[in-house]
Amino acid sequence: MKKSLLRWLCRLMVLTLLFGLGMTSIASAQDSFVASAQEYFTQQKSSQTAGEPQQIISDQNPLPYAVEYPVIGTESVDAKIKEAATQLVTDYQNRYADAQAAAAEVSRPKQAAYLTVSYTSFLTEDQLYNVVFVENYGEADSETSFTNYHIYVYDLNTGEAFTWENLFRPSYKEKAETYVTSYFTADEGTANRVYGGTEGLSAERGWYDSFAVSDSDIVFYFDKYSILPASCGAPMVIVPRDVFSGSYLTDPEEVIVEETPEQPQADASRSIDPSKPMVALTFDDGPSTGATNRILDTLEKYGAVATFFDVGYRVESYPEVTQREKALGCEIGSHSYDHKDFTTLTAAQIQADHNKTNAVFQKAIGETPTLFRPPYGSTNATVQQNSPYAIVTWSVDTLDWKSRNADSILAAIQKEGNLDGKVILMHGIYDSTADAVEKLVPSLLEQGYQLVTVSEMIQYHIGEAPAQGKVYGYSQFQ
Ligand code: ZN
Repeated sequence: MKKSLLRWLCRLMVLTLLFGLGMTSIASAQDSFVASAQEYFTQQKSSQTAGEPQQIISDQNPLPYAVEYPVIGTESVDAKIKEAATQLVTDYQNRYADAQAAAAEVSRPKQAAYLTVSYTSFLTEDQLYNVVFVENYGEADSETSFTNYHIYVYDLNTGEAFTWENLFRPSYKEKAETYVTSYFTADEGTANRVYGGTEGLSAERGWYDSFAVSDSDIVFYFDKYSILPASCGAPMVIVPRDVFSGSYLTDPEEVIVEETPEQPQADASRSIDPSKPMVALTFDDGPSTGATNRILDTLEKYGAVATFFDVGYRVESYPEVTQREKALGCEIGSHSYDHKDFTTLTAAQIQADHNKTNAVFQKAIGETPTLFRPPYGSTNATVQQNSPYAIVTWSVDTLDWKSRNADSILAAIQKEGNLDGKVILMHGIYDSTADAVEKLVPSLLEQGYQLVTVSEMIQYHIGEAPAQGKVYGYSQFQ
């Protein structure tokens, strides 16, 4: 199946789930339960490209249900798929057994609960038959509805179930976790809502143990309420197959080479004149392959430097971007492993986070940072006592994460007036910030500012080496 087609199908399914199907209205209008279910099934047709749909429908109170499942013509496989579909009905009846018992005693005027099950199906060129049941259920009088996925993949050549062990080495799970984590954390709004933070997306929780397989992608499904609040629906993540290269059983065994990263020297031709004005640009929350690289393109073009406060798990995903930051003579500080508010952590948790993050930096660039910018700029005595770095905040906040607008970012900086000695906060993950930087860097140079790293700013403007545990913030960077 074409990649674009699958994407389209999946998107359609999500949209149907989120908007197309008013489950509450189905539940409250008993007469139209079957009609509404049929309408839903019709909407699903375009995402059913393998097998002929069969239906099991009952409009009996108090537990009506409408279930459809495909039949492809391979007897043993069809039997298993049908069994899975009927099991969903049994589970539903057991779940609402009380409602059933109550209805046996009195004739209830309306249904107590509802169940509709549809599916997406497709076949790969290798005859892998994918059926993903989408189960929706809830109580008739409740706004709360559940959406769960049930994934079945069969190899039609053998009639056997197809599991990850038929395709992958175990290392694929780590790649899935990395991809899915960056997918859900690319946007700060979504990132903050993931249950349990990035730990909540850990492979150890079993999220990546099952999936659907197309010719171009591996698709992971997440039940409603499993990783995100209900308003986010029941998301799916479509991961291109080449993300897993090296983990396929057909790939040559991966040889783990401990890379000794090159230690590029900072641009030796760059010299600082302490008598001239200087400003330090800083970029948090990266690295990212898009915006960070664009910022680096601008810095490279003008032979300028900045300080990047990188997040550990992202450095693991994109070590080559952090390596490029270093190669261009930029300073790399830590912004923690996964952006927790450190003032909510114990001393032991703070130390553990630093250790984990330091190991990531050591592996990526062959050294550990001397600067730490706490997430949200939020620090206290415990953070200071347990952080083996100088703690750096800022003196100019561009609010780039909020405005996502290059002109607003430039205006915020301009209204500061004299920038000598200032440390400017931006985020290296937004294209709008990269747009602003394209104008900002030449403009600052034209105004006679030297662009320096934060450590250089502390050295030349404050007159000391960055001191461990000391907080450098608004009043220092003036
Ligand atoms: Zn941050």
